[in-house]
Amino acid sequence: MFSSVLIANRGEIAVRVMKTAKRLGLRTIAVYSEADAGAMHVRMADEAYPIGPAAARESYLVIDKIIAVAKQSGAEAIHPGYGFLSERAEFAEACAEAGIVFVGPPATAIRAMGLKDGAKALMQKAGVPVVPGYHGANQDPKFLKEKAYEVGYPVLIKAVAGGGGKGMKRVDKAMDFDEALASAQREAQGAFGDPRVLIEKYVLSPRHIEIQVFGDTQGNVVHLFERDCSLQRRHQKVIEEAPAPGMPAAMREAMGRAAVEAARAVGYVGAGTVEFIADGSNGLDPTKFWFMEMNTRLQVEHPVTEAITGQDLVEWQLRVAAGEPLPLSQENLAIHGHAVEARLYAEDPEKGFLPSTGTLHALEFGAAEGVRIDTGVEEGAEVSPYYDPMIAKVIARGATRDEALDRLGQALAGTVVAGPRTNVTFLTALTEAEGFRAGDFDTGFIDRNVEVLGAVPQPMDAKAAAVGVLGIVQRQMKHAWRAEQQHRDGYSPWSVMSADAFRLSDSPRHQNVPVVVDGELHSARLTFPRGFPVAEVAGQTAEMSPWYKGYLGFLETFLLDNDLRNYPRDVALVPSADAIFVIRNGRQTEVRAFDPLDVDLDHLDGGGSVKAPMHGKVVQVFVEPGQQVAKGDRVAVIEAMKMEHTLLAPSDGVVTSVSVTAGEQVAEGAPVAAIEAAQDQAA
Ligand code: ADP
Ligand code: ADP
Ligand code: MG
Repeated sequence: MFSSVLIANRGEIAVRVMKTAKRLGLRTIAVYSEADAGAMHVRMADEAYPIGPAAARESYLVIDKIIAVAKQSGAEAIHPGYGFLSERAEFAEACAEAGIVFVGPPATAIRAMGLKDGAKALMQKAGVPVVPGYHGANQDPKFLKEKAYEVGYPVLIKAVAGGGGKGMKRVDKAMDFDEALASAQREAQGAFGDPRVLIEKYVLSPRHIEIQVFGDTQGNVVHLFERDCSLQRRHQKVIEEAPAPGMPAAMREAMGRAAVEAARAVGYVGAGTVEFIADGSNGLDPTKFWFMEMNTRLQVEHPVTEAITGQDLVEWQLRVAAGEPLPLSQENLAIHGHAVEARLYAEDPEKGFLPSTGTLHALEFGAAEGVRIDTGVEEGAEVSPYYDPMIAKVIARGATRDEALDRLGQALAGTVVAGPRTNVTFLTALTEAEGFRAGDFDTGFIDRNVEVLGAVPQPMDAKAAAVGVLGIVQRQMKHAWRAEQQHRDGYSPWSVMSADAFRLSDSPRHQNVPVVVDGELHSARLTFPRGFPVAEVAGQTAEMSPWYKGYLGFLETFLLDNDLRNYPRDVALVPSADAIFVIRNGRQTEVRAFDPLDVDLDHLDGGGSVKAPMHGKVVQVFVEPGQQVAKGDRVAVIEAMKMEHTLLAPSDGVVTSVSVTAGEQVAEGAPVAAIEAAQDQAA
């Protein structure tokens, strides 16, 4: 075993790799971009080196910079994690050239599996069943359309260089083919710089089942069973588990054999995953699974395999990279119990899963037995727009699938995140969702159940808003108290109110105050029965708990902001400098005091302006000044993190101005276009 390893990655996977490396006594070396200077993986490493600006293209993806740090620090090995450089053959080669061990497969294996068309052809030759379709060189649209007809609709158009579900279009009928092809090619060119596609039969009731394989330099190859990753959204995994529900022993054996075959065919060494698609329409069947692709790296969801096999896959990777034989042979590997992983993301399921950024004002995970949390951030950290917005992976194990799901649900339900929006309530709902719970699901499950899962716009949580208003009152009272101490006057309607309110003896009977709840202006009503404030928003009220009132006598304690948290006790209140986050049943409601002097509230005008929902890059602009638009027309496409977001016209009207051009970077809230609504014109 070598004595040092550089981790060419960030976030949870860098932290996870370092944990094992440290346990094995290796010196750990981190690299970090400007955005990550204070990150967990940097603090955890024995040594850390800056490698440039936040944009991955200028830091984590620059091979030369990473090799230079490896040389400077004397790293004997480099672990690439997943994503970034992990599947770049040139990186593996650059490591070899520099005399550093690349913790991964040989460059030849990465190359062989790098493009989906070549990989499929190779697998076919090796006798591994592949999804029927066309994966040849001819890219003529007419020819491809003929092929689609031969394959039979529905078909899937896939980018040969694809990954992360990008450049993939399902087509149900010939009429839609041309447009889907053009769009897939455009996306593929944009994301991978390669417009080539392949055509595949779209498997009905698809189950994504993948096999973890491992090879060593002595020519041994084993598999560590399957993972079921069928709970997906936009072809991306949301919840993964092992073993696969309803998996017949014969199928496990057939898939395991096929995966080992696939790995052998490319001289595989290290950790890899062979992804298959299975037809689940009549339960799983050993004759109905087909090779999709091989990922030549450690997978995000590897912890569920670790949980059921009792093995540390990163340790296996390091040992194999050091030339040791595989720690166990196939006969000595067995499945124990069940494990499930949920990917906790900073995104808003109620708004089409729009990625969400910002400071994590609170981050606490619910406690449950058998739960493992893999994360690279902690309270106070920033979810930046530069990288994947994953906050953590929550992994639960149990003796049975039900037990594992119960524990996962419990851990998620107890999780509190304040600041960025998250998918935590969505994930919790998934752990309880009927069909999924029964093991009766396929990759379309989430799309079919978005409403049940709460992934649609929800009405304001008025109760939470009222609680938030109380939080503001408390804070304002504190400020008023301070102001009074210093003989200063407040300015905003809030501070006037609270100054009054603080004079509890002559407080007004009631008061209406403007509040901003999740970006929308509302009126809250405050009353002061017996001197303690009661807040009402949209018919829901909140009052201070008796427990809290007890503290009012002790002004010193009362003045501590920290007291806001866990009060009242069924919700979590998390204050930031200018807002109160109320977490109720896992859902976040953001409450701010409306201050007319606050110039930063122009996003409230809503109306006819189209604004960037997040930091990102303008990909395309569809309108120009003077153009008539109908409500719902496309205005622009913004790309942020891993997704494209289409901005739509909020109403019928005329475009009065366009403030962006394609290619431009925009900040969250930046104006994109202004539309004068039809009725405005009439008036
Ligand atoms: P796939 O979806 O390709 O089958 P995974 O589920 O393992 O495989 O997802 C890997 C993806 O995670 C990468 O393709 C990349 O988009 C994303 N990613 C890359 N680097 C990171 C990172 N440091 N943290 C979180 N996600 C990352
Ligand atoms: P990526 O490189 O983006 O991970 P994959 O080929 O692994 O691309 O496909 C991603 C997802 O798309 C799969 O997990 C599966 O849900 C779906 N998918 C891929 N191929 C098919 C197919 N032929 N039929 C049905 N679904 C498919
Ligand atoms: Mg895949």
